[in-house]
Amino acid sequence: MIHLSNITKSFGRNQVLKGINLTVNKGEVVAILGPSGSGKTTLLRCLNYLEKPNDGAIMIDNFNVDCKKATKKDIHQLRLKTAMVFQQYNLFRHKTALENVMEGLLIVKKVPKEEARRISVELLQKVGLGEKLDAYPSQLSGGQQQRVGIARALALNPEVILFDEPTSALDPELVGEVLAVIRKIAKEGITMIIVTHEMTFAQDVASHVVFMDEGAIVEEGKPNELFNRPKEERTKQFLSRIR
Ligand code: ATP
Repeated sequence: MIHLSNITKSFGRNQVLKGINLTVNKGEVVAILGPSGSGKTTLLRCLNYLEKPNDGAIMIDNFNVDCKKATKKDIHQLRLKTAMVFQQYNLFRHKTALENVMEGLLIVKKVPKEEARRISVELLQKVGLGEKLDAYPSQLSGGQQQRVGIARALALNPEVILFDEPTSALDPELVGEVLAVIRKIAKEGITMIIVTHEMTFAQDVASHVVFMDEGAIVEEGKPNELFNRPKEERTKQFLSRIR
C-alpha cells in the first residue's frame, strides 16, 4: 500500500501542492486527472523525489519517509520502490533499446550482466519490441521509444510505476499502441499511478480516479462514479469542458 500524507510543495511563492492525502492499494491503477497546472506532474515527481516535497510523509508498504527529514538513504530506497515513465521517454540516446532496459538492472539493482540481458530481452518482447533490441532511440518511433521506457520501468520490479502523461508527446496514431501495453500490464496487478489526459483510457483502465485542481484533490472515487456522477462543481465543469 502507498500512503501520502499532507504532501506540500512550493516553487518560490507558488504553492503547487497544498497538502495532498492519498492512499493507493496494492494492484490498484490510479488515474490522476485535472486541468493544466493543477499539480499532477509535481505530485508524481514528489513521490520518487525528483522534486523534494516541503512537508508531509510518503509511506510505501512499511517504508516511511518523513519528507522534512529524508536522508540520502531514504531517497535511494524510495527510488528503488518507484519507477517513472516520462512524457518525453528520457532514454539514453547513445544506448540501444536493450542497453536502455539493462541499465537500471546493472547500475541500480546490481544484477549480473547475463541475467540483466535475459530479463531485458523478455521485457522488450512483452512490450512488442523483440525485433528492436539493437535499435537506438533515433531509429524508433515515439510509441516504440515509450514502450522501451515502460520495459525499463518494469525491469526495476518496483512497488509502483508512475506514468507522467505517457502519451501526450505522441502523434495520435501512436497513442493506441502505448495504451495497449499499459492496459496489458495493468491486468497483471502491478500498482500504477497515471497522470493522463486520456479520459476514455482512464475510465476503462483505472480502478480509482483522482481529480486535482489548484494543488488539491477535489474529488476521488471509482471511475464510474467520478465520470458519471461527479459530486463537486469543479469536477463537473472540468468534465463538461473536455467531453
Ligand atoms: P499539465 O497537465 O499542464 O502537465 P500539471 O497539473 O501536471 O499540468 P504541474 O506540471 O505539476 O501541473 O505544475 C503545477 C504548477 O507548478 C505550475 O504552475 C507550474 O508552472 C509550476 N511548476 C512546476 N514545476 C516547476 C519548477 N520546476 N519550477 C517552478 N515552477 C514549477
